[in-house]
Parts: sequence; structure tokens; C-alpha cells
Amino acid sequence: MKTAICAFCAQTGMLCKDCQTKLNSGEISDTDIQISKVAVEFEKLHPNVSNVAILNTIENSEFIIILVAPGNLRFLVGGTLDFHNRLERVLKKPVKILEKSKNKRKAIDGIFSPALISGINTVFVPARNPKPGQISVEEETIVVLSPDEKIRLPGKLEDLIELVKLIAGVDIRVEFR
Ligand SMILES: [Zn+2]
Repeated sequence: MKTAICAFCAQTGMLCKDCQTKLNSGEISDTDIQISKVAVEFEKLHPNVSNVAILNTIENSEFIIILVAPGNLRFLVGGTLDFHNRLERVLKKPVKILEKSKNKRKAIDGIFSPALISGINTVFVPARNPKPGQISVEEETIVVLSPDEKIRLPGKLEDLIELVKLIAGVDIRVEFR
């Protein structure tokens, strides 16, 4: 599995000069290192995860999100696959594994779960900086949830919005109505 540290470091549990530099500079965190070690153990049991790539880790006080490459999720969770449970045991925080996705709806549903989204609307608004003499519009994505869903959000709203940007590459506005 491709993780934040090199294969050698993940295997041995020691850090080479390059990985230590990354850790010192804050490019990777202790959490990334712990994840890498769990990944190595998991790969021993499930050799077909060797092509899985962990792209990013987002951690806050309440949860950890692990972003994997498109199509990778089915190698990690579901059935007897328990990568997320193994991570939770080590990291002692809820872990959510998400796939980087070009499917906007799928990505947003995953990020907001367990809160349920009642709709995603795309509206067209005049562009902020149209070229002279041109009428230009921009797409705006509005995610609509019932006010009841507010308590089921998996994290702070601004964090979720940032995640959507990171995973699906879109700026969203959230409305409760
Ligand atoms: Zn290394």
C-alpha cells in the first residue's frame, strides 16, 4: 500500500532520513506513521491491497479522514475487510475512509454521512470576473439538508466544506431548510 512514509520505514518502524525530515517539517504527522504501520500489517493479510494508495489524511479533534485513490475503498472495508477498525484501535478516534471521487454526489454523501443530504442543486450565477464584452456564468453547488440533520453531521461544517473541496474539487454552500 502506498502510504505517507516509504516502504522501508513502514516495514521496520524506524524512520529514514527522508521520512524523519518530512515528520520534522510537518509534511507528515505521527498519525500518518501509525497509519502506515497498520497498512503494512493489513497488506500481509490481504496482499491485493498492494496497489491501494493513501492520498491524504485529515485529522481534527473528533475524527480522522483517510483519502484513498478512486476504486480503492472496496479493498479496505466491507465483508471481512476491517482496515478502518484496525486503524480506530490504534488511533483511538473514529476513522472514515473516503475515496477520491469525480462523482460529486457520491463524494458529498460520503463526507456528510451519517447526516442525510436532501438535495444537491447546481445554480448558475454571474461570474465574478467576466472577460470584457462577455457574459459569463459560474456553477455554484448548494447542498441542502433538513435542519434535523445538523446534529448528525460528522464534524464542523467548515471542515466538511473543506473536505468536499479537497475530495471532489468543488466549492459548496450548505443550506438547512
Ligand atoms: Zn523512510
